[in-house]
Amino acid sequence: MKYTAVQNYINGKFVPASSERKLDVISPVDGNHLSTVAMSTAKDLDAAVKAAKAAFPKWSKLPIKERVQVFFRYKYLLEKNLKELAELCSEENGKTYGESVAEIEKCIELTEFATSLPQLVTGEVLEVSRGVECRTEHVPLGVVASIVPFNFPAMVPNWTLPNAIALGNCMIIKPSEKVPLCCGKLAELLKEAGLPDGVFNIVHGDSEIVNAICDHPGIEAVSFVGSTKVAKIVYQRATQNFKRALALGGAKNHLMVLPDAKEDMTAQNVAASMSGCAGQRCMAASAMIGVGNVDAIIAKICTEAKKIIPGKNLGAVISKESKERIERYIGEAERDGAKILVDGRGTVVEGKENGTYVGPTVIDYVKPEMSVAREEIFGPVISIMRTNTVDEALAIENANPYGNAASVFTQNGGLARYITDHASAGMIGVNVGVPVPREPFSFGGWNESKFGVGDITGKSSIEFWTKLKKSTTKWNPEAGVNWMS
Ligand code: NAD
Repeated sequence: MKYTAVQNYINGKFVPASSERKLDVISPVDGNHLSTVAMSTAKDLDAAVKAAKAAFPKWSKLPIKERVQVFFRYKYLLEKNLKELAELCSEENGKTYGESVAEIEKCIELTEFATSLPQLVTGEVLEVSRGVECRTEHVPLGVVASIVPFNFPAMVPNWTLPNAIALGNCMIIKPSEKVPLCCGKLAELLKEAGLPDGVFNIVHGDSEIVNAICDHPGIEAVSFVGSTKVAKIVYQRATQNFKRALALGGAKNHLMVLPDAKEDMTAQNVAASMSGCAGQRCMAASAMIGVGNVDAIIAKICTEAKKIIPGKNLGAVISKESKERIERYIGEAERDGAKILVDGRGTVVEGKENGTYVGPTVIDYVKPEMSVAREEIFGPVISIMRTNTVDEALAIENANPYGNAASVFTQNGGLARYITDHASAGMIGVNVGVPVPREPFSFGGWNESKFGVGDITGKSSIEFWTKLKKSTTKWNPEAGVNWMS
């Protein structure tokens, strides 16, 4: 075991969980046993809530300009520790070192945004009648929770923690049991940055602790990022317990490619979008719809895909089960009559024989009813469908239950605008393969890719992590002047 057993982080200290139940943490890169992680119980969560509750009065009463000082220092510490964090991220998640560096850089950008929050929460004041003022303030909620997935062990925690905490809340985070290591390092950096004990806590575990979070009366709000299946469970359970909830789910993102698209740029973007982070991104291109004759572009996508080498510029998928699932999807498509142009099945990386790799895979002549066209595969696979018109392409895109992202590749501004207007997704790209909005714009999909109101990052997150207080004040002492005067 390379690292000591992963522990919870409660009230500024790493502490063992109360349960004996443990899972192994295995590196997808080479199958090495990295650590074990204990599956916490409701008792552990209670201790975390108690610590967060105790820290809340003092933390929430600090002026926000003081609270964000912690995040100026945290940002500096992320920069200083970038290499160590990126190595840890690659080791536990399997993505390439370059992808992990980009992930930590994104954490830095998210933290930068949090430091700008004082400028964004100034509230409003107006003299609504003579001598009478109405004023609004964004007030923190209290103890809040964030449940995160395996695919971005550092970035997704940083979607929530800097904003929620800078806005005055105390947070409990539940990392993915598959990648529990990065969060511990983030906790160390937050402590070094001067975050008071109890403001940030970690409880590790699986569905048992997630259910306990949704049920705990001391938690005011729950954010979730993960699959749609679990997003629905969490959203339903948390709101049934009268908590504020925002649950981001899975995705099936469509790229619509028109014949006038710039060939090289499009091919490079499609290949990069479907294979980045081994296709394990909720913003990855998973389906492509060629409108009209785009054979030349598809040929170039195959050329680009063949330049993506597992173990070099393509990371591993998270587990043996994931590899098997992805390969099963490819097999089903082949059996159903699709054509496998580039086949990533059976990939073994020399020297890393126990790693879990799937090579880039391009599947052509996919029909909308096939499983590879409908379901989230979460691997480096692109399923290509063909239509004659833009409206047929939009009908396919609109019919899929998800709605995270959609993109169009064309040089025709009018058609791009038409597709932007009619695609049913929260984040749209024009000649952009991975249309993630950069800060201060917010991140969030539509349909079955998100349950709840508002987005999880950027300005939109302010509404989720705070409640609005409205004060009406009358200072004119004269008798006979009423508040409507
Ligand atoms: P997952 O849903 O399996 O797990 C997410 C979290 O839920 C983990 O912390 C896990 O411990 C917990 N969990 C798992 N099963 C549970 C259950 N039955 N009850 C309660 N909690 C449970 O997701 P994952 O495999 O870790 O991540 C991949 C998924 O996340 C993909 O579907 C991907 O699209 C999605 N994702 C979405 C976004 C987005 O912004 N929409 C971002 C990243 C990942």
